[in-house]
Amino acid sequence: HADIAMYRAKESGRNSYQFFTHQMQDRLNERLKLESSLKQALENDEFVLHYQPQVDLSTGKIIGLEALIRWQSPTLGLVPPGDFIPAAEEGRLISAIGEWVIFAVCKRLQSWRRQGLKIVPVAINISALQFMEQKTEELVKQALNEYMVEPKYLELELTESLSMLDPVTSISLMQRLKDIGVSLSIDDFGTGYSNLSYLKRFPVNKLKIDKSFVSGLTNNPDDYSIVKAIIRMSQSLGLKTIAEGAETAGQIALLAAENCDAIQGFYFSRPLPEAEICAMLKERPRLDISEFGRNKDRGA
Ligand code: C2E
Ligand code: MG
Ligand code: MG
Ligand code: MG
Repeated sequence: HADIAMYRAKESGRNSYQFFTHQMQDRLNERLKLESSLKQALENDEFVLHYQPQVDLSTGKIIGLEALIRWQSPTLGLVPPGDFIPAAEEGRLISAIGEWVIFAVCKRLQSWRRQGLKIVPVAINISALQFMEQKTEELVKQALNEYMVEPKYLELELTESLSMLDPVTSISLMQRLKDIGVSLSIDDFGTGYSNLSYLKRFPVNKLKIDKSFVSGLTNNPDDYSIVKAIIRMSQSLGLKTIAEGAETAGQIALLAAENCDAIQGFYFSRPLPEAEICAMLKERPRLDISEFGRNKDRGA
């Protein structure tokens, strides 16, 4: 029994060794099981993408979408990415999943365009491992080609920590992606190691303020200061700023007052399945943001 084992582990060094190897074995088995289910899921085409709108804070227009993966498992139901992406990363399956995402998004963009929908750029999350494998450039080109999608409709989200791991290689990889014509953003900004001198050299278009700062915006003065500082810095580097995870009107009002460019958060919409996002783009491509008191001309 785990509790007893834990107790004994505290009592004796030798038992603790046994306890932990046992537990590690269990975890390893769990992970191997998950990894093989994920491989299976890929073969059975069980992954789906949901899309969350990004709303421009001066016009209310939906200016982009972020594609977010889910696993529609026949046994587990809809599994969120937090529950399987880390295992996919450890098991090196992330590249195959990442490849699926790139092609699925381009295919979707083509189908939306064929339906006569006015499309907006779609952002894709690129995992560190996938990025460092250096195949991404080729895959992106292939997918754009295959589905005849203009590169400007694709945005790649990279994380700060990833880019700082090996800044010099990252910069050249980013530049090659940039040369294709896709745009790049730094995801979860503020949570990784920010070597600001490198940030200046990253050929990115956009910073996404991490939702941990946004959620504290109205009641934590430190978070407010951090968000303000990120927006100023982003502006002075000539980058667009988008705030992730805005759930309340109060948060959005502050972000609007600080001239944040755009919002992605539950307040406007949760990530939606394909059919629903399609309907939203058709019926409500522009949301009412009049309560946030910013008009088109401000912040220009
Ligand atoms: P992320 O890229 O930072 O994506 C934003 C996450 O914040 C999404 O969670 C989204 O649903 C959530 N979010 C957006 N607005 C709000 C809000 O107002 N309140 C709250 N509480 N949450 C909000 P999700 O879809 O569970 O994705 C989690 C993470 O999984 C993503 O974080 C990303 O790191 C990873 N992920 C998702 N799809 C992919 C993918 O296709 N490939 C890779 N490599 N990673 C992915
Ligand atoms: Mg993201
Ligand atoms: Mg994020
Ligand atoms: Mg994240």
